[in-house]
Amino acid sequence: TTPRLRKPDWLRVRIKGGQTFERVSDIVHEHGLATVCEEAKCPNMSECWSSGTATIMLLGDVCTRACRFCAVNTGNPRGWLDPDEPAKTARSVQLMNLKYVVLTSVNRDDLDDGGAGQYAACVRKVKEVNPGTAVEALTPDFLGVLADVETVVDSGIEVFAQNVETVKRLTHPVRDPRASYQQTLAVLAHAKRYRPDVLTKTSLMLGLGETEEEIVQCMDDLREAGVDILTFGQYLQPTANHYPIDRYVTPDEFEMYRQWGLQKGFLEVVSGVLVRSSYRAEQVLEKNNVG
Ligand code: SF4
Ligand code: SF4
Repeated sequence: TTPRLRKPDWLRVRIKGGQTFERVSDIVHEHGLATVCEEAKCPNMSECWSSGTATIMLLGDVCTRACRFCAVNTGNPRGWLDPDEPAKTARSVQLMNLKYVVLTSVNRDDLDDGGAGQYAACVRKVKEVNPGTAVEALTPDFLGVLADVETVVDSGIEVFAQNVETVKRLTHPVRDPRASYQQTLAVLAHAKRYRPDVLTKTSLMLGLGETEEEIVQCMDDLREAGVDILTFGQYLQPTANHYPIDRYVTPDEFEMYRQWGLQKGFLEVVSGVLVRSSYRAEQVLEKNNVG
């Protein structure tokens, strides 16, 4: 076995509480709401919840794919859907008093539309109950079926996100064989062409073994696909059986990539050790006068 890398000091997280966080946290537990923030033990939870941002998982917790960086269980949900999901999701957003909600999901290759219809129904209900809340859909790739992408993009969202996760060369082995770098770029490009008023967004994990040149190439590819918002965060191996960490990227490098990204014309680049796809999403939107 290879020894695991020692965590650098900058990864030691300061957990801050705060009144708003405590209140939201109480509501979440009292009502048994499920958030990705808690399930993933996200280090940004108090900051996000205090500022009215959270990530909610749709379409169940069993994924039809098996990416090597991801801790979600793989299986076949055989077409299962919760008919109450739109109402439950809308109610959760209301109870948590969210100003910005990220609706994300597992891949559902078992469904004819990849779950796009349920996604859209959830977004519509969230908007109906919480007209002031901005919604980001962080979706699976729908196997590249553009009609499914349109279903989601047309549902009333402010931001359409799909994660490219890593640079081209590392897409396989890191992502499931059914995912592809080009497919994700094509989906993002289509969303932008189809609805230019909806912001597009993607995220990369760093520390998987990518080179500087590969990151730059990836940024160029994303700009070409018309992607507006880019985030970079440190990859952290969920268990010893997952894809190994190559290295810990320093805070200075994260800042350097942020600057490069801004020079390349992204509307916003959020880049830092603990940055997760949804981190600071609300501030980004506010700054760009959307929502
Ligand atoms: Fe939740 Fe995303 Fe914020 Fe983490 S970064 S707490 S997952 S909204
Ligand atoms: Fe995890 Fe998404 Fe990959 Fe499924 S498709 S294994 S949820 S990263």
